[in-house]
Amino acid sequence: MVGGQGVSSSKPFRSFWLAGRHRPLYGLMVAIASVLTVFLLRYALSDVFDDGALFLFFTPTILLAAMFGGIGPGLAAVGLSLIMVMVLEQLVLSREIGLLDFIAFLSVGIAIAWLGEAFLRASIASTTSAEALEEREAQLRTILETAFDAAVVINAEGVIISFNPAAERQFGYRLDEVLGRNVKCLMPEPYHSDHDHYLRRFLETGERRIIGTDRIVVGQKKDGSTFPMKLAVGETKTESWHYFTGFIRDLTEREESAARLEQAHGELARLSRLNEMGEMASMLAHELNQPLAATINYVQGCRILLRDIDNPNAERARAAMDEASRQALRAGDIIRHLREYVVRGGTQKFPESMHTLIEGAAGLALLGSRDQGVRTEFRYMASHDTVIADRVQIQQVLINLMRNALDAMRDTTRRELIVTTRNDGDMRNIVVDVADTGTGIAPETIERLFQPFVTTKSNGIGIGLSISRRIIGIHSGTISVFNNQDGGATFRFILPTLQQMGDSDG
Ligand code: ADP
Repeated sequence: MVGGQGVSSSKPFRSFWLAGRHRPLYGLMVAIASVLTVFLLRYALSDVFDDGALFLFFTPTILLAAMFGGIGPGLAAVGLSLIMVMVLEQLVLSREIGLLDFIAFLSVGIAIAWLGEAFLRASIASTTSAEALEEREAQLRTILETAFDAAVVINAEGVIISFNPAAERQFGYRLDEVLGRNVKCLMPEPYHSDHDHYLRRFLETGERRIIGTDRIVVGQKKDGSTFPMKLAVGETKTESWHYFTGFIRDLTEREESAARLEQAHGELARLSRLNEMGEMASMLAHELNQPLAATINYVQGCRILLRDIDNPNAERARAAMDEASRQALRAGDIIRHLREYVVRGGTQKFPESMHTLIEGAAGLALLGSRDQGVRTEFRYMASHDTVIADRVQIQQVLINLMRNALDAMRDTTRRELIVTTRNDGDMRNIVVDVADTGTGIAPETIERLFQPFVTTKSNGIGIGLSISRRIIGIHSGTISVFNNQDGGATFRFILPTLQQMGDSDG
């Protein structure tokens, strides 16, 4: 990303430069070599130059030696130069050099050596930090390149500036296809349209919605399909730049950690058990009501028969009959309470975003589905998606429908699961369709599908859809199913949106 090319090409020179231990030695060698060279040159050219400016020839040697080796070699060059000047004075000069000239050269020489040393230190510092930077960058690159999670870095305008190999795999884009593009190309609607606005609002207000937490949202691949993903966003900021890094895990990929799979399955099993228990209790209550009523009738009939018999045993039997009748009525009450609890009491309803519910449910239901070759797509066309709902229950419905869809596509060649939302009835309802390209439903079972214990699976109980219908009913909605024209089935449920609930309250 950030080019290390220029820095790395100068590596041999830099290692020489930074060869700390030998630096004074190299500097001394440079001092001797350069002073001797200048001496020989000046001696050879003594006919060309007149007597003046003798010292001037030697000043570059001091700078050179100090730049290579620091102040020590610089001072050595000053000393050597003084000696050479004295030799030259004897050999070629027609006049004597004054003491003042020597002192001036000495002072200027020391100053130049000091300057050379300062230059050397500054170069070492900048080279070292460039190297450290390059090393850190290489480490970061390795981490990002080998990471299992996709990592996408964007700038404050939302433009993608880095896209790791896992991101290429998850989204199906090559690096060169996305670099420089706005990150919203990885998002379906409504995120696609809203993202610029979110980013701008964050930059203006600093109000955090997703940064620092992780959330399940939907991502869009190059082929247009969408998938549930877990997104965590981090922020990096300095005075001159502002970056955001998104770490993304495709929840439909099998290579999930075993722990997460286990946790998800555990959660699913727990939810199903809870609902199945509720359903069983409710059905038992329904079934037991009739025999209980009959029992009470018979008991009261016997009571009437015993009324006119004047016998101590008959008297005791009458008392026992009264008690039997009371107990049967009590059993009826218990059952009625149980039914009421299952039907109503267990639910906790709050305003919830249907799209968030879908994403959470998809995160659980679609684990490993990519491995099965299932293409998923989430089309959110509903602009009003807030419902008053029991989150767990509605997600249970969605999970049931999605898992059934996956089951139905096990043996088909085309495997597409499409979840669509839209509003109807003046935004008063939200319609959620879970469509698949599976086996579809036989006409003889389609009517009975929502009844308990209707199943075509060897390991099925046939209770999922009846629970789903009950849950949707509790939420004042309806659920239905139809076969698609080009194969597969669509389960559709319709729930009132918050808008409608608000209207009916008022
Ligand atoms: P189970 O999954 O235990 O069988 P359900 O009540 O969830 O119980 O489903 C009942 C039956 O409905 C299933 O056995 C299956 O035959 C049928 N079914 C449900 N969803 C689909 C679907 N998407 N495509 C085809 N058949 C389905």
